[in-house]
Amino acid sequence: MTTLESAPALVSNHTPMMKLRNIAIIAHVDHGKTTLVDRLLQQSGAFRDNQRVAERVMDSNDLERERGITILAKATSVVWKDIRVNIVDTPGHADFGGEVERILSMVDGAIVLVDAAEGPMPQTKFVVGKALKIGLKPIVCVNKVDKPDARPSEVVNEVFDLFAALDATDEQLDFPIIYGSAKQGWMSNSPDKPAVDMAALFDLVLKHVEAPKVGAGGFRMLGTLLEANPYLGRIVTGRVFSGSIRTNAPVKVLDVEGDLVETGRVSKILAFRGIERAPIDEAVAGDIIAIAGLEKFNVADTLCSPEEVEPLHAQPIDPPTLSMTF
Ligand code: GDP
Repeated sequence: MTTLESAPALVSNHTPMMKLRNIAIIAHVDHGKTTLVDRLLQQSGAFRDNQRVAERVMDSNDLERERGITILAKATSVVWKDIRVNIVDTPGHADFGGEVERILSMVDGAIVLVDAAEGPMPQTKFVVGKALKIGLKPIVCVNKVDKPDARPSEVVNEVFDLFAALDATDEQLDFPIIYGSAKQGWMSNSPDKPAVDMAALFDLVLKHVEAPKVGAGGFRMLGTLLEANPYLGRIVTGRVFSGSIRTNAPVKVLDVEGDLVETGRVSKILAFRGIERAPIDEAVAGDIIAIAGLEKFNVADTLCSPEEVEPLHAQPIDPPTLSMTF
């Protein structure tokens, strides 16, 4: 597991003014999410050749989950054509209802990953439904077309039927489609024409997912996920809605009503960098980051500069379905 203490300074300590995209991956278990993200990481150069895929962040949270502490912010970032793509994992299960909505509210696009033989599974219906409801226009990725029993065209029709049953708009039903084999390391715009790499998927994401919209005003961030870190204490992950934030800056926390919860300072800002989270000095609007230093911050609270007064709200807010114990 990546410990934050030991995380090397992977990036220089100033914030790169890089273009950004934030996407979620929605997939039924075993349809290839981990393999796909590993391939994207490999192609974007985030892995050293000999680095073990098993050390990836997305798979490192079992211990916390077992202890019932929290569900960690599972995200990875890859860089393609000078654009950083934050890829957020979504729990594939209705048990995490409130969390799914909060996670989806951080992103501007989604990849719905479907096994070319099995087709869409009922368990992902819930998450896909939430994504459609908040207006995301998912890209459909038909994976595992190398399987002998793959039936990509039928599976696309099944996804269409699923979206339609979930009241997708015409625009959402007109979803971009990509086919491939994450295992073999390629994605193509055609089911019959294997490509040599993952470029077509990267390009589709950049074409269809908008850059994050940035709100007006000073620093504000909606708390989306909480975790208890043995070294850094309480860490909150969210997307910076407006402004920018530096380490040591004074901040305050507002609850959903706008009442003051606490004031404090940002002791650490962590950004997703490949398979790691790395400390950075400054984060800007649009990015998904984790912040340490606050003691009472809760999910759905707003972290903001001292002069800000309006709390942010996810659309829609459900009460968290998980008990978070600290
Ligand atoms: P996850 O549960 O969605 O993260 O799925 P994994 O990435 O762990 O993959 C589940 C299984 O499917 C593993 O055995 C993978 O090797 C296999 N797999 C993933 N992608 C492909 C693919 O494109 N083709 C085939 N044939 N198998 C794949």
